[in-house]
Amino acid sequence: MRQSNTHIPTLRDVPADAEVRSHQLLVRAGYIRQSAAGIYSFLPLGLRVLSRVKEIVREEMEAAGLSEILMPALQLSDLWKESGRWSVYGPELMRLEDRHQREFALGATHEEMITSLLRDEVNSYKQLPLGLFQIQTKFRDEKRPRFGLLRGREFLMKDAYTFHLTNESLDEFYQRIFTAYENVFTRCGMNFRAVLADSGAMGGTDNHEFMALSEIGEDTIAYSDESNYAANIEMAALPKLEKPEIGEPKELAKVETPVQKTIADVASFLNVTAAQCMKSLLVKADDELVLVVLRGDHELNETKLKNVLQVEDITLATDDEAREALGTGHGFIGPVGVSSLRIIADQAVAELDDAVCGANEAGYHYTGVHAIRDIAPFSEEHYADIRNIQEGDPSPDGRGKIVFARGIEVGHVFKLGKKYSEAMDATILDQNGKSQHIIMGSYGIGVSRLLAAVAEQQADEKGLLWPETIAPYDVHLLVMNPKDEEQHSLAEKLYQEMKETGTSVLYDDRKERAGVKFADADLIGIPTRIIVGKQAAEGKIEFSKGREPKEVLTVEEALAAVRS
Ligand code: ATP
Ligand code: MG
Repeated sequence: MRQSNTHIPTLRDVPADAEVRSHQLLVRAGYIRQSAAGIYSFLPLGLRVLSRVKEIVREEMEAAGLSEILMPALQLSDLWKESGRWSVYGPELMRLEDRHQREFALGATHEEMITSLLRDEVNSYKQLPLGLFQIQTKFRDEKRPRFGLLRGREFLMKDAYTFHLTNESLDEFYQRIFTAYENVFTRCGMNFRAVLADSGAMGGTDNHEFMALSEIGEDTIAYSDESNYAANIEMAALPKLEKPEIGEPKELAKVETPVQKTIADVASFLNVTAAQCMKSLLVKADDELVLVVLRGDHELNETKLKNVLQVEDITLATDDEAREALGTGHGFIGPVGVSSLRIIADQAVAELDDAVCGANEAGYHYTGVHAIRDIAPFSEEHYADIRNIQEGDPSPDGRGKIVFARGIEVGHVFKLGKKYSEAMDATILDQNGKSQHIIMGSYGIGVSRLLAAVAEQQADEKGLLWPETIAPYDVHLLVMNPKDEEQHSLAEKLYQEMKETGTSVLYDDRKERAGVKFADADLIGIPTRIIVGKQAAEGKIEFSKGREPKEVLTVEEALAAVRS
């Protein structure tokens, strides 16, 4: 493609709203343009990379034995009501009405659609196992669309679904698709790690997220420094406390803490460590108020708490709600003597035998608090694993210590089991003619997010630096002075020859200064570059890979290097 004939609107300045490198560079290098928050156009270069990523995904899905389909983005609300997600999904689901006032959703994911598509047509175990995938635009009205393509409101996803009679068959496909995902991310040149993910109320361990390692990642990965254990922090479990180690009870005393509300202030005022304090949080778990207690140096893990309480939603109660329930606002609340509310404490709290906590009276805390004496006897009902794992904690597999890294979730493989087939009554007849609910798996890759995640990992201060597998063109050909006859004719000849041999070439034939051409080429980041300049008369060009220094080659040598 001649650069003079296409649309690559490069920018010198960093767009004001672009916080992260991939977003800045994809806009500056003319790959994408924002149309509204979280909604983007792909310009020619952006679309070419997207197409190549799609093709890799497609090849690997087909190699794993899945067939491609394309389902509608517009979905009748009836389907979502059947699964129960019309109410559960919340404001992220884009909803609209047609002219007959029928309600629709714009597909955020397609479990309902595919279950309804298959339930009427797949009737016998003989038609299973079956795996289908699509590459399609998804819509999610994200609360905070940001980081460009990384969290959009309209984005491209590959979603796949598999259908089985037995769990063994699901296991086999899960493993196959897991491997296909590893292939996709490796081929796209991404530095990634598969981690255990939260399965919500459904339980089970076969649920993995694929994380592109990156400091700007929104997810924290907890991994072992000695074994291959790696999990999303949402899900990384602490070893179960079997028997708390506790010392002799001390006397419970109420002390004045006139203005000390935070753990740090209370601890320094009473001359104790944060680990000797209890952190009390009044939360609304769905509709019930629950008092949550943690050790002062620990953080609440909302996902774990949701799973323990079996609720969908956790929010911090307001100070007014706290005053009504406990007599005072956050800062002075605590679990001692509370009988009107459910109390759930982290298991580490069970080992506190001389601790500090709020006294449910403004300006006062208790000291000498002994959890098992003063809050609740030791049992799973009262003490559970509800805190975030921390660096230095023992790895849940018993080998090594936990270290953190940040990641961008680019893929997710998930054993759904019968969740949707039961809710939507999708059954098949087994070998004995008995009706069975279909067992399902669901597998997503954020295709547009993947593109941005690679851009985030593979770039420098000059611009993007694509891996060859997904670069928009194989070669960037630059002619320094197109008005020079020798340079012009050599560049034209190279352009034609490479095109004829199936090499895709972006040919900078523009009448721009050399400095502009180089700066644009650095921004655009095509890994192989051929520069036709002053030595054209001698049949020589300059050749470079990535940001490596240029070498002077003959035309034949350059073409051979491109071919290899
Ligand atoms: P996240 O926690 O990042 O919101 P999710 O758990 O909601 O992701 P899934 O429902 O598993 O994501 O969707 C499958 C894949 O789609 C994700 O692994 C991710 O790569 C991609 N994805 C999800 N939401 C977005 C988004 N808003 N923009 C771009 N890609 C997304
Ligand atoms: Mg999401």
